Amino acid sequence: MLESAGFEAWVVGGFVRDVLLERPVHDIDIATNAHWQQVQKHCEAAGMHTFETGVAHGTLSVLPAPEASIIEVTTYRTEGSYSDARHPDAVQFVSTIEEDLARRDFTMNAIAFHPTRGLCDPYGGTADAEAGIIRAVGIPQERFGEDALRILRAVRFASELGFSLDAETLEGANAQVERLNKVSVERIAIELTRLICGAHVRTVIMNYPTIIDAALPELAPMRGHDQKSPYHIYDVLEHTAYVVEATPPEPLLRWAALLHDVGKPATFSVGTNGQGHFYSHAMVSAEIAASVMKRLKMPGQLSHDVELLVRFHDTHRPANHKMVKRMLRQLEGRPELVRALCKLQVADALGHAPEFRERGTMAQDFEGCLDEVLARGDAYTLQDLAITGSDVIALGIEEGPRVGEVLNAALDAVINEEVPNERDALLELVQASR
Ligand code: ATP
Ligand code: MG
Repeated sequence: MLESAGFEAWVVGGFVRDVLLERPVHDIDIATNAHWQQVQKHCEAAGMHTFETGVAHGTLSVLPAPEASIIEVTTYRTEGSYSDARHPDAVQFVSTIEEDLARRDFTMNAIAFHPTRGLCDPYGGTADAEAGIIRAVGIPQERFGEDALRILRAVRFASELGFSLDAETLEGANAQVERLNKVSVERIAIELTRLICGAHVRTVIMNYPTIIDAALPELAPMRGHDQKSPYHIYDVLEHTAYVVEATPPEPLLRWAALLHDVGKPATFSVGTNGQGHFYSHAMVSAEIAASVMKRLKMPGQLSHDVELLVRFHDTHRPANHKMVKRMLRQLEGRPELVRALCKLQVADALGHAPEFRERGTMAQDFEGCLDEVLARGDAYTLQDLAITGSDVIALGIEEGPRVGEVLNAALDAVINEEVPNERDALLELVQASR
């Protein structure tokens, strides 16, 4: 439509890259020499909805059809200097697609496509994509200096795609890594979450120490930390990298895996036989995990859940109904957290020396047992109990904290299978305990 109105328009960015890589595509970006007001005029005339949220940067969001996804249409532009290492001070519009591609971060992201004109690929992005190379457009050190977020984008793409940073690009990124301090922590957090959810996260953690340690300084002491233990064949960080990669790629599990042993260096001691110990490391790791999540301004629920999983990651219990219900009780009556804990423990076991990986089967059995408990409808929260607070009060217990204590004791008795979850039996128990 834009082209028949006399303008030029190309599909650009991630969409073109992902098509070339035969990966699933998400958002569509179009670059054009039309101004957003002109784009808006033509789109609205064709009955499309438009949104002006990004017009300050020349971007108009267009909804081509009610059920379609948004297309971002951006006027060819370049970016001025970056005094805060992230936001360009001024957007300058330019007249050619080549100039627009020059401001983009990596060669594989600086390719434009048009149905009849084909590819416009002035920086060799197609060849780099094929070879699996992440290469900065222009002089790497300058480009990372302008916008340090690109440093994290580079390793995030490496983790998602299994690509490597070109040597000069890596050198430029390492040289500018201090500038990450200037990038908003929210953007860093988004990139880090995508990075750790990548399929190639282990390699990235191990191969880009300068960048990883700058973004997550809490991990640095784990790097090269010998565990002096027959259970382990890797240092703390490499073990961690294996565990992360072995968990399902969801933010909760990946963050918990990344931080599960973060307290090991601080709790390390060597016994008389020369064997390394990490007493209370789960507790210390949970505290450090909470501080990392807080520093990154992660959502409160995610931070809380990560902290819980880290705290319990080393708690291994035999797979039986009683133990599952106890764990449910400790994990706030949330089956999804117990399930996540089992998955974390299975992954953790895989990161150990081969002869010590069986602990994973125990965690697997534990999850199977969880399914049984849920299917049976067994009580594991105060809400499931066959008596309530008013029953307790009716038996003459004074309103206040004591009511909760009595109910909790009753739930413990039910979970420990000392008494059935039946009203009369529970009333009798309460009566007897007064
Ligand atoms: P994905 O959507 O998978 O994160 P993407 O490449 O589409 O990947 P977007 O953030 O959607 O990433 O950006 C679209 C395009 O804008 C990129 O392909 C790239 O050309 C350009 N771009 C994005 N962020 C930057 C940046 N910080 N510096 C330079 N160019 C960028
Ligand atoms: Mg995109």
